[in-house]
This record gives sequence, structure tokens and C-alpha cells, in this order.
Amino acid sequence: MKVLVVGSGAREHAIAWKFHTSTRNNGVFCAPGNAGTGEFAVNLDIDVSDTRAILSAVNEYGIKLVFIGPEVPLSRGLADELRKNSIPTVGPGADGAKLESSKAYSKEFMLRHQIPTAKARIVKNSGELEAALKDFQLPLVVKKSGLAAGKGVLETSDLVRAREFAESQLKDGEVVIEEFLKGYEISIFALSDGKNYLLCPPAADYKKAGDGNQGPNTGGMGAVCPVPWFDASLMPEIEETIIRPSFQGLRNDGIDFRGILYFGLMITAEGPKVLEYNVRFGDPEAQAVIPLMETDFANLFEAVANQTLETQQLSISPLQSICVVVAADGYPDEYRKNLKVELPDIRLEKRQHLFHASTMERDGELVTGGGRCFSVVGKGTELLKARNRCYELASQVKFPGAWYRKDIGNRIFGEDAD
Ligand code: ATP
Repeated sequence: MKVLVVGSGAREHAIAWKFHTSTRNNGVFCAPGNAGTGEFAVNLDIDVSDTRAILSAVNEYGIKLVFIGPEVPLSRGLADELRKNSIPTVGPGADGAKLESSKAYSKEFMLRHQIPTAKARIVKNSGELEAALKDFQLPLVVKKSGLAAGKGVLETSDLVRAREFAESQLKDGEVVIEEFLKGYEISIFALSDGKNYLLCPPAADYKKAGDGNQGPNTGGMGAVCPVPWFDASLMPEIEETIIRPSFQGLRNDGIDFRGILYFGLMITAEGPKVLEYNVRFGDPEAQAVIPLMETDFANLFEAVANQTLETQQLSISPLQSICVVVAADGYPDEYRKNLKVELPDIRLEKRQHLFHASTMERDGELVTGGGRCFSVVGKGTELLKARNRCYELASQVKFPGAWYRKDIGNRIFGEDAD
């Protein structure tokens, strides 16, 4: 089967690689992909937002399945356009994608379907903001409603900062003011065909730039899967109070959700609560989770697209997986691009993976193109072995200013707001 993966990140590299290992692989295409996917797939010079070019590539190359990686084309309705043209697609339509692209909408969805989440008020102007700020104890959380690549959230105990941040975000639309939840976070991916779902093991990502969870928020600097400190006896409660009601809610609202629904959960003293939904694999969690997925990707995701998921089972390796992101100097602020990269001259063994993000070949040389340039992954029968394999590889990814967190795999404790 010929498959097209839309996106250029390390997440898409991991997805494309998994399709490449399928017994039914008859060609993997990426739009636009990166230098890493270019080693085994056909990279098409197409922007993820160029729906017309994606449609014509599907026809030209006889592609039988499209997997949309990132949230922006999903929220713009790429999956709707593809399905309208009878192309089997992994990824929700614009209606389902709203669970991620509007935090106001997703909060209303949770409240309407009685899904446990932080208490919140949605505000549209300064008057409503002042009233809402009086309603919440400190610390509190301020969130921009629209997509912000992980940078639209402020957790704070400082009312002046909260007001300033909220006012600046109100210029772009609604803002959500929310109760601060204490606990630890996990991410669960569910594969859904609109009728049935399958769950991946919980993962956790490391959002802050610095070791010990210090410094600014980032898109994610590393991940573990499964989460060694997660209390697995909570899983039945999570399914009963959060996962099933969310899918039932989607069906009740008439939303045919075919793709990946990501549950960002806070495990609090009062039980698990939803922090957010994403409508795609998380990056970098996916780079830790996907190498553990043993089910043939062509079969699995064809079933997601064609609503036959009841025919599939998710087989998961019993190993521990760790992903470390190697980033460019300056990230998450301004960073340099087009840096020449030297990669380890080793054959990767089965328990190590190296996924590129937005890298390119320029004049025969490999250069960086993004802030989070590579995801390296180590797997092992124990955390320590996974971690050693991962860091051994990370230290061999070389470009000027390359850096990574040194504490991925350490337990993440719940944090207090500043
Ligand atoms: P992401 O990049 O993870 O998709 P996002 O911008 O969509 O982020 P959220 O996931 O809602 O925003 O929030 C980002 C992070 O802020 C959370 O992972 C969590 O660490 C923190 N956070 C959000 N809401 C709360 C809350 N109510 N209580 C405590 N921390 C919170």
C-alpha cells in the first residue's frame, strides 16, 4: 500500500518509518518530510497547508492512505477535503480538530459531557476578565483559546502578570481562566475510527527547557513511555470517567473522529482530570511511543480510516522507551538554522532510533531547519538501559550549539506555579 505522511517533524519521521517497515509497504511519501525521511521515502516538495497540491499528489502517485501529522492542517480541514475525494485518511475533520484548536470549545465540550477537568471561565473582554480573576484563588492558569504551539499558557501566582498576559491574549480572541491543578501529568493516545478505539500505553513529556523542569516552556524536550511513576490501577477510572465519555460525547455531537485523540491528564489527589485534548500524536511523546508499537501500521491505520478498528489489536513491546530532543542554540527563543550536522557513523541497533525534524540536504551536506532538530530514542528492558542507549546516541549528534536536557527519564513531580 502507498502511504502519504503529511508533516516534516520527528513525529512524522517516526510515523513514516513505521509505515516503511510494514509488510505491505509499497512506497512511503512525505509532504514535505525531512532529510531523515528522504533516506527511505519519497519527499514531495509540498507545504502541509497546500491542500490542492496534496490532493493532486495522491492521484498522481496512487496513494491509498494519508496520515496527517500536525494540528494546523487538521484544523484547516485537510482531512475533510481528502475524505470528500474518497481518500482514506487518518486525522479528524475540522469539527473534531476544534477540540485542540479552541480551548474555549474543548472546555465547553468537557463540561457538557461531564468529563472531569479544571474549573474554568471563558472570557471575551476586559470586563469579563476582571470578574473571572476575582473568582479564582491563586495560583491560577491563563490560556489563549487558539493554537499557540505550547506557548499560550501561563501558570502564575501573580495577579498582575495574569492580567497582563490575559489582556495581551484577548487581542487574538477568547481566553480561558482556569483553576491550577496539582499533581503529575501523563499523556494517553487513543486511536479512534469513530466507533471503536485502542489505547497506547501512557507517556509523559518534559515541557520545560532546563534540567529539573526549570526555565521556559517548549514544545517538549523529551519523553518516556511507559511512565514508570504512573499508578496503573488508575487506568479503569481514566477509561470510565474520561476516555469513554469523550468518545461518546463526540458521537453525541455528531463528530466522526477518525484519527488520534490525545488526552493530556493531570493525576490529582481527587483523581484524573483532563488538562487538554490534542487531535494528533504528541511530539515528542510519539517518538517514544511509536517504536514500541508492534502492530503493522498499514493494517492499523487503514482500519482507523475505514472504520474497521474492531479487526485490530494493538501489540505493544514490553520495553521501556526514552526520547531526548537535541535542540538548536537559543531554542525556545530565536535560534539559528542551516547549521551543518554530523551524525554518528554507526548502524543503529534495534533499540536505538534517530528521528530528524525539518532537516535538509544542502549542497550534499545535512543542515538543521528547526528548533528541536533531532529526537533520539533508546529502548531497554529497564529504564537505565533505555536511558544509556538514548544518551549515548544524543552525545553523537553534533552541530554548533546543539544541546539537550540531561535528566530525561527522571521522575517529573507536580510543579507549583511561580
Ligand atoms: P501543549 O503544547 O502541551 O499542547 P497547550 O498550549 O495546548 O500545550 P495546555 O496543555 O492546556 O496548553 O497547557 C500546557 C501546560 O500547562 C500543561 O501541560 C500543564 O503543564 C500546564 N497546565 C495547563 N493547565 C493547567 C492547570 N489547570 N493546572 C496546572 N497546570 C496546567
